[in-house]
Amino acid sequence: MAKQLLGKEVVAALNERIMAGVAELKEKGVTPALGIVRVGEREDDLSYERGATKRCEKLGVAFEKFVLPADCTQEDLMKTIDEVNKNDRIHGVLIFRPLPKHLDEAAVIKALDPEKDVDGITDGSMVGVFAGTNQGFPPCTPQACMEILDHYGIDCTGKKAVVVGRSLVVGKPAAMMLIKKNATVTVCHTRTVDMPSVVKEADIVVVAAGRAGVVDDTYLREGQIVIDVGINVNAEGKLCGDVDYAKAEPVVEAITPVPGGVGSVTTSVLVGHVVEAARRKNG
Ligand code: NAP
Repeated sequence: MAKQLLGKEVVAALNERIMAGVAELKEKGVTPALGIVRVGEREDDLSYERGATKRCEKLGVAFEKFVLPADCTQEDLMKTIDEVNKNDRIHGVLIFRPLPKHLDEAAVIKALDPEKDVDGITDGSMVGVFAGTNQGFPPCTPQACMEILDHYGIDCTGKKAVVVGRSLVVGKPAAMMLIKKNATVTVCHTRTVDMPSVVKEADIVVVAAGRAGVVDDTYLREGQIVIDVGINVNAEGKLCGDVDYAKAEPVVEAITPVPGGVGSVTTSVLVGHVVEAARRKNG
């Protein structure tokens, strides 16, 4: 039976550090604040927003919502970005994406003040991740994976890691972060040949494919650490990951459940970035 790598345990430790940071800033008269820019009312955006605002409230971080209608113009959205950039009360900005198709997402990302890029979407933040420096902020989800590994004392040095997925949001930055932790990393995608053999070679497996249950016991072996980034809804309407948990769990050494794994940690990582942005601004 595998050890469960539980998001709530990682969140509890992260939250303590975040609250200490908030207390330090409050002593200087600074309340860290998140600006949330949302276009339209997509249910997944609203659900993430509820989680983020609840976590902010719990940790003493303020938030302000900037909501535009789904049919807003590019000009309206650019004005909002300008407003949050210039707003001194706001230290970090979360922009829900994907934006509706009529909007130019690249222009919006380019307009965002890199110092407020707590969700790690600007080119500057990507440079930070790929160069292994502290420029900008890393995307929250792959950082949440690293926080889980760190919390459970999983040393990546010299280990073989396989990342399934090569998106700019999860797969590629996760691979770079694992390299920074001295793992030897292979990235799989839809053109990978004989993925089960490749994944079986790994000591640490991070799965971010966006396909429910795409990795099962035929990809896995004993002794592996499995981090499941996927969030999918199965035929019964229940949340499930990209790993077939029922088949994987009896085989591997440790695994994150879905729900209860990476997702909840991501929210605390975001709030932690807001606090760090406020700290950077207030020396
Ligand atoms: P994405 O942009 O759709 O990218 C998926 C990647 O997986 C692509 O690189 C794709 O390969 C690869 N892939 C898809 N099917 C595959 C297969 N059968 N075999 C091997 N590779 C395959 O997705 P994403 O944004 O990275 O998100 C990945 C998952 O993480 C989703 O389930 C998403 O809901 C979840 N997610 C979770 C959080 C969180 O906080 N927990 C946050 C963000 C995303 P190609 O490049 O060849 O197409």
